[in-house]
Amino acid sequence: MKINRIKLQYLIIGVALLAFMLTSVVSIWSGYKLNKDNLGESALETNRVYAQKLADTANNYLQEQIMMLSANVPEIAEQMSNEEVLKKKADLIRNQTDAFNSIAIVNDQAVVQATSPQTLDLVGVKLTSNAMKEAIKKKKPMISQPYESVSGRLIIFISVPLFSKTNDYLGLIGGTIYLKEDNVLSELLGVHPYSDHSTVYVAAKDGTIVYDENKENIGEDFSKNKIIAKALEAHKTGVMKGVNNAGEQSFAGYSYIKESNWTVIAQRPADAVEAPAGKMVQKMLNIAIPLLFVSLIIVIFAAYKIAKPLQRLAELTESSKAKDEEKNFRTVPAWYYEAIQLKESLIISFGALHNRVHDLTDQSRTDALTGLFNRRTLDEVMNRWTEEQKHFSLILFDVDHFKKVNDTYGHDVGDEVLKYIAITMEQHADVSDLCFRFGGEEFVILLPKTDAEGAFNFAEKLRKSFEENNSPTGKPITISAGIAECPKNANDYGTLIKKADQSLYYSKENGRNQVKITE
Ligand code: GH3
Ligand code: MG
Ligand code: MG
Repeated sequence: MKINRIKLQYLIIGVALLAFMLTSVVSIWSGYKLNKDNLGESALETNRVYAQKLADTANNYLQEQIMMLSANVPEIAEQMSNEEVLKKKADLIRNQTDAFNSIAIVNDQAVVQATSPQTLDLVGVKLTSNAMKEAIKKKKPMISQPYESVSGRLIIFISVPLFSKTNDYLGLIGGTIYLKEDNVLSELLGVHPYSDHSTVYVAAKDGTIVYDENKENIGEDFSKNKIIAKALEAHKTGVMKGVNNAGEQSFAGYSYIKESNWTVIAQRPADAVEAPAGKMVQKMLNIAIPLLFVSLIIVIFAAYKIAKPLQRLAELTESSKAKDEEKNFRTVPAWYYEAIQLKESLIISFGALHNRVHDLTDQSRTDALTGLFNRRTLDEVMNRWTEEQKHFSLILFDVDHFKKVNDTYGHDVGDEVLKYIAITMEQHADVSDLCFRFGGEEFVILLPKTDAEGAFNFAEKLRKSFEENNSPTGKPITISAGIAECPKNANDYGTLIKKADQSLYYSKENGRNQVKITE
């Protein structure tokens, strides 16, 4: 059964692609992570700087308002009993600045002396809020925390104390900011340059929202929100990552407004901050995917080039029956160390294997003593030729009185004579003629495309050569031969040999050292 094993080429492609993918994933992921972190850090810093700027602006603004109120103190202190003057003064102050929604002048018992606008209708009313009580008690410039006024509005109250020339405490003059209506804070804080989901809000020290773009949040207690809690605690500028009121992860920067004890917080949801990192991944993929295809083509080509020599060598070893292996192996395009080494050793070992097989075949086909083809080979060739109905002649000859050679000179000299006969035969034979040792001191020569007469001439030349030259015994030997022609005398192996043998026998009987053609 042939098992389909994974091919080297596909392995290389697979490994290269895997490496490419892993590299891409790692670089895209790390790029994404880095980008995201940078975006986060810069969002924190941007928000912090922005919050600080707003806090500074608010701080300065509040200071200015207190100074402005203070500047009016001497005049008001002198006219405390003159209700008309106070009314005018209140109106004047309110129109002098757009900071306050209303102005109130209050005596040291917290009773309202004058208001602007007068429609408030509070003159003579004693104000009982904690903010008022505290301001009167402390006799210092104050910015209150948010609270609900007598008119039911959520307000903050900014006040300065009124002292007479003789430094008697007379009450206070204060301005209110209506938090839930259009006020100076929305002018100061509301127009911010980021149209990117970032929000700005201001919390008083107890966590009550003083300003928020979303008006519904104003007055709400958000002290539980972690970002707000941390910002309130800090009393300085800083950054924090945390969950905002909408439950989204956010990057927040905060800054403290010293004058009022408030904190400005600027924040942006993480999703909005990190969105460009996602877009960057998309862009990187857009670049990477076409590159992946280009790489794929290069990788396939390289894998083909690398695998090709090994693949060829593997194919050749699989079908090693094919002829000319060495030549085939030589054509393998080995261009790197392992393939070259493998190719060379395969050429060497296949070469050696083939020589060995060749040797073995030769041994079984030839006679060990003379090196001529043996009887077995004769059988093969004759069977094939008669089957193919080839035209040829056969010479069968036998050494005369060979026993005597053995007896006189010994068996070893006898062997030398046999070798000498073989050499003489081959010297006389054409390339197409085949010489065999038939057995003992009998030999056969096959002459393709030769008739009996041609064979006779050949045998005669051979006979004469023996007759005229000395053999290893120091004396010439003689031979007797019989000739048969195929298909003239017979067209099967057995009969043909028999006929040649009969003619040989005739030569012997007729006095030896002669050649006889089968009739
Ligand atoms: P003739 O053929 O002329 O009738 O006489 P002969 O002496 O050649 O007759 P025979 O066939 O009886 O003798 C053949 C001898 O060849 C017998 C055997 O000892 C010898 N012989 C056969 N094979 C070998 C061999 O391989 N080496 C040697 N030295 N002698 C061999
Ligand atoms: Mg014999
Ligand atoms: Mg003989």
